[in-house]
Amino acid sequence: MAASSSSNLDPQLEEEEFLYGAESGWVEARTWCDHLGCLSSDLAHIPAPDTPCNRCLHPSENWLCLCCKDVLCSRFVNKHMLQHYNQTTHCLALSYSDLSVWCFKCDAYLDAQVILQLQPVYETAYILKFGEAPPFRTVDHPDVEDNQAKGISSGS
Ligand SMILES: [Zn+2]
Ligand SMILES: [Zn+2]
Ligand SMILES: [Zn+2]
Repeated sequence: MAASSSSNLDPQLEEEEFLYGAESGWVEARTWCDHLGCLSSDLAHIPAPDTPCNRCLHPSENWLCLCCKDVLCSRFVNKHMLQHYNQTTHCLALSYSDLSVWCFKCDAYLDAQVILQLQPVYETAYILKFGEAPPFRTVDHPDVEDNQAKGISSGS
């Protein structure tokens, strides 16, 4: 009898589980990374967010390699970005689905709004995706105008 073996379990399953790791909710992004040296020197011109994966032509939610501007699909599709990293050690990628930046070497998200080297490409990608500039937080002008008349009339 026996309904034969249910053997064809994907050998990549374990790896996938490992990669999913911090999938639950918000993961804090790093505000620094030692690997920014591999960033492309021309990030003013990047492929459109709807560019298909260069290898399997997966149409959406791909990653942009920030080192050579290749567009490749995610670990949830055919892992071409991950393969690209393994083959080239290009470790910085920007997600066209949510514009997050991932460093494969740090194994962490990077805060593209804080890291100066990433701000331009984040902004460019944002404009390509949404058609307008991102609402950057402006912390440059701490309002210190309440110097006036304090403590002067405190005689008692
Ligand atoms: Zn692909
Ligand atoms: Zn690359
Ligand atoms: Zn890094």
